[in-house]
Amino acid sequence: MNTAALGAAAIGFGAFKPEKHQFIIRFDTESRRREGMKGFFEKVVSVQRSNEIPVSFFCQGSAIVKRESEFRAFHQEINGDQLFDIQDHSYSHVGLGYAEGKSIEVLRADYENSFSTHERVFGSRPIGVSLCGTKVDGDHLSGFDATDKSRAELDMLADMGIRMVNTFHSAHDSNHEFIDYSDLGHPEMMGFPSANSDNGWVRGRNFGDPVEYIVSEIRKNAPLGKHMAIMFHDDTEWIDVDDKELDLFKLVADVARENGYELSTHVGCYDRFKQQQVE
Ligand SMILES: [Zn+2]
Repeated sequence: MNTAALGAAAIGFGAFKPEKHQFIIRFDTESRRREGMKGFFEKVVSVQRSNEIPVSFFCQGSAIVKRESEFRAFHQEINGDQLFDIQDHSYSHVGLGYAEGKSIEVLRADYENSFSTHERVFGSRPIGVSLCGTKVDGDHLSGFDATDKSRAELDMLADMGIRMVNTFHSAHDSNHEFIDYSDLGHPEMMGFPSANSDNGWVRGRNFGDPVEYIVSEIRKNAPLGKHMAIMFHDDTEWIDVDDKELDLFKLVADVARENGYELSTHVGCYDRFKQQQVE
């Protein structure tokens, strides 16, 4: 048998094949309201530890600057704890993958500003970004594969050391699939699923009662073996819907486990993705 072909196959789409279906929770941590957000980090740390809930925090550079002492204390508290994962969400909430997006130079400068803020405050640069939604850059494309410009944006992230970003590819389900970007020249990069933004199902109540909705979504997807992702925002939970006990956050974790999901951080998935590519 041709071992080179086997090696190539192992690096194909879906190299990350966990034994159990994954449930990834993230907070896009982007509020610049210092006073309003007081107490958030302490609460989320305590809830995560007492319930053993792994979560990734995709932090926006400008929020880190505005709430620097809070972010520093948070990082100091959680550093080395596998339940926590700190990644990036751009400096000023710039959009990747838009038809009328900013130039590569502008995007690169924005991300570089954010990554160097991470380096200054946390002592390390991120390896992951979660895509930002904008309302000013025209239509969102179907994926990084859509245009030369969007391919160049993925190349830019790779060049800046990013190894995981949303699954954003026209051939794949961004809500449920982990992928690699080998067909765009980046087998080293993992795409992670992203869905269920709390601005829709919690704050907007777009699907009726939030608890009933999310419980039914988890029960629907679990038997299908589909990975699931939940996207919270620090200020949506803490300020906008005033859930200062983080009850919804605890609830989704509980219900996911009851339905057979394995909860993981994004970097926890990436580490296994990388391992499986080596094997
Ligand atoms: Zn955001």
